[in-house]
Amino acid sequence: MSATAASVTRHDWRLAEVKALFEQPFNDLIFQAQGVHRQHFDANRVQVSTLLSIKTGACPEDCKYCPQSGHYNTGLDKEKLMEVQKVLEAAAEAKAIGSTRFCMGAAWKHPSAKDMPYVLKMVEGVKALGLETCMTLGKLDQEQTQALAAAGLDYYNHNLDTSPEFYGNIITTRTYADRLETLSYVRESGMKICSGGILGMGESLNDRAGLLIQLANLPEHPESVPINMLVKVKGTPLADEQDVDPFDFIRMLAVARIMMPKSHVRLSAGREQMNEQMQALAFLAGANSIFYGEKLLTTGNPQADKDMLLFKRLGIQPEAREEHDDEVHQAAIEQALVEQRDSKLFYDATA
Ligand code: SF4
Repeated sequence: MSATAASVTRHDWRLAEVKALFEQPFNDLIFQAQGVHRQHFDANRVQVSTLLSIKTGACPEDCKYCPQSGHYNTGLDKEKLMEVQKVLEAAAEAKAIGSTRFCMGAAWKHPSAKDMPYVLKMVEGVKALGLETCMTLGKLDQEQTQALAAAGLDYYNHNLDTSPEFYGNIITTRTYADRLETLSYVRESGMKICSGGILGMGESLNDRAGLLIQLANLPEHPESVPINMLVKVKGTPLADEQDVDPFDFIRMLAVARIMMPKSHVRLSAGREQMNEQMQALAFLAGANSIFYGEKLLTTGNPQADKDMLLFKRLGIQPEAREEHDDEVHQAAIEQALVEQRDSKLFYDATA
């Protein structure tokens, strides 16, 4: 396939052809992915989101990669659900440094009836600030999903993590079918879906391809597809997993870009371990979304000003919020980043 052939949005991907995408020479794959990317996006724009952990640790799920699981002793300080006002203050700061989307994550199996009113207030408040809203709260039932949508939640994040075949090696307390059900409720409610997975958990190429097939063969592609590199945390069962070959990680981004041409592919957890050259290669492969200006749930994230410096060197601009023209937006971000360099505005779940 040439890089300029028109890309179509497909939902019938099969394992053999996806593996063939992965296995082609690296340069051919990147060229193809970049061609697809340019058909649907400005190749020099990257969307930026801020992520806040609104409830940290003591999660009843047993996801083997996760320091927040109550099943593993990682020394993580547990935090109760944050006060609504504190969340709104963090969101206002995120807006000030140029984030267009504010993502709130809670380490729950599912939100409880007791917590839902607070969560809904957070959504309403963040929305009122003019930010896009995103939450990740675990499994949802239909009623909760509809309540979140009615409160103004734009995106719901619920990752599939890996292929259905490998999934049982990583999580035993929640089924793959449960995850797909939550995603279907989110879609029915009219919210946008953020769903992706993690590399480096001991999965095979078939599993990486299998994850992308699950995502791309949904009735509609997730609008946002986070691709994470495992952050190995001492105390979790995956602490000693082998490193992923950096080029294999880039291949994953490129294949995701080709299979889901209109989705934002997000370079997500694990970015701190990547050098600038690798991040540049990730953008070339079609990644066009990052988290910045905060700590990524409980794992580190590169400093926001370092990110902006890299953007500058690469000629990349953040995707603008609608209410700003691009130049004003860019200037506002850069100014705010200088001001917040040494501040501790953001909740640090690892502290
Ligand atoms: S990934 Fe989410 S659901 Fe799994 S243990 Fe961590 S916080 Fe809980």
